[in-house]
Amino acid sequence: MEMMNVTLVIPVILGWISGLFINYVSDVLPLTRRFTRPTCPECQTPFPLADYLTLRACRNCGKARSLRTWVVQILTTVAFAYFWLHPSKALGIPLGMIVIIYFGIITVIDLEHRLILHPTSLVGAVLGFFVGTYIHSRTGGLLVGAGKSLLGGIFGFGVMFLLYQFGTLVARFRARKMQAAGQADDEEEALGGGDVYLAGVLGLMLGWPFIWDAILLGVLLGGLISFLFIAALLVRRRYSSDALMTFIPYGPYFIIGAFYLLFL
Ligand SMILES: [Zn+2]
Repeated sequence: MEMMNVTLVIPVILGWISGLFINYVSDVLPLTRRFTRPTCPECQTPFPLADYLTLRACRNCGKARSLRTWVVQILTTVAFAYFWLHPSKALGIPLGMIVIIYFGIITVIDLEHRLILHPTSLVGAVLGFFVGTYIHSRTGGLLVGAGKSLLGGIFGFGVMFLLYQFGTLVARFRARKMQAAGQADDEEEALGGGDVYLAGVLGLMLGWPFIWDAILLGVLLGGLISFLFIAALLVRRRYSSDALMTFIPYGPYFIIGAFYLLFL
């Protein structure tokens, strides 16, 4: 027991540092597209490094750090400690930590900006190919591992690409109907283009045939949550036909599906 408490210090420290990294990337990458100095979202004053890393409020306007910042710090630390004690059988501890950091960044940026950035998809493709090859080469050797990873990537990308094309068709049909009804086109998409790349990345990571389960889990979960959301609106009598067309960001649901398969 004593021993466990001492060794838990390691994942707690690593988790906290990783949380800082997830927060940093999520703060600057969507806004500036590069690794710039973070600024206060309220008054745009650059943070001194020490203030930023110690999560201090902005000295210029007094605005406290966002709730997300704290949630990410705590969740990452808890996740690191948990998967230190119960490591993912597929990934092991170090690779598991890297995947958690990656999923954290994608999820935060997608939830806050409804955006999956191309640079993060590119980094994800490299990480995904490495992870997928690692997982699948244990049973059949390196070539089989790499093959299954690539097959998963192609399948994930392909399925979502087809769904995306179908969604675009529906959106075009809807835009025409709205124009005919004299309404402005609101350019909503049921499925973002970034989700297609994300499905490719997760496909590489999980490999064939597990990507199938991740997509299925993601779509079911996304559909279920949307259904509950619409049901809640109906109960509160706030429902309008627009609610049906509310954008569903599938990204986080795919991440949950992949996370479940990789870690639990
Ligand atoms: Zn400020």
